Amino acid sequence: MKIICVGRNYLPHIQELGHKVPDEPTLFLKPDSSIITRNRPFFIPDFSQQVEYEVELLVRIDKVGKYIQEKYAHTYYHEIGLGIDFTARDLQKKCIENGNPWEIAKAFDGSAVISPFVEKDQFEDLDHLQFHLDLNGTTVQIGNSGEMLFSIDQIISYASQFFTLKTGDIFFTGTPKGVGKVSINDRLEGWIENRRMLNFRVK
Ligand code: MG
Repeated sequence: MKIICVGRNYLPHIQELGHKVPDEPTLFLKPDSSIITRNRPFFIPDFSQQVEYEVELLVRIDKVGKYIQEKYAHTYYHEIGLGIDFTARDLQKKCIENGNPWEIAKAFDGSAVISPFVEKDQFEDLDHLQFHLDLNGTTVQIGNSGEMLFSIDQIISYASQFFTLKTGDIFFTGTPKGVGKVSINDRLEGWIENRRMLNFRVK
């Protein structure tokens, strides 16, 4: 399986990082070695002084597809989840400055925290799905799928031009504003609407 992530999909987050607004989705991949499930703790790696949380809606692909048209994209997923795209921001800045790829900053071990998945039918309106992240009991990020620059279906359609999508592949669909650094002993709780999807510690 593979993890396909979208960067820069919420305008206020693009502005907080000082990036340009993209006219096409910005995609990057994470390997399966980056995955953390079952609320296991996230260990801050030694190579970064600034690991940041990015809470994101997830979509799990359940059918093989290539060149998927946007109008059919919704038939390729039936489950939604929540994840954290952990980012070594200090390394990412250096990569960007040097014109290098981001992988060491985005795809390291433990950088993809993934919740259990929920049938999408259990949510009233996928186009206006609220989600948020609490850090030690205080809400630090609030998002709504309605604020995405590129919708889930547009992302799937775009990505499938380049990558054959397979059952079990997971999309990280971008983070809203409010990203910040994690510290040892932090507790992160992620929510979709009023459903707690993630609850884990930083070590
Ligand atoms: Mg992200």
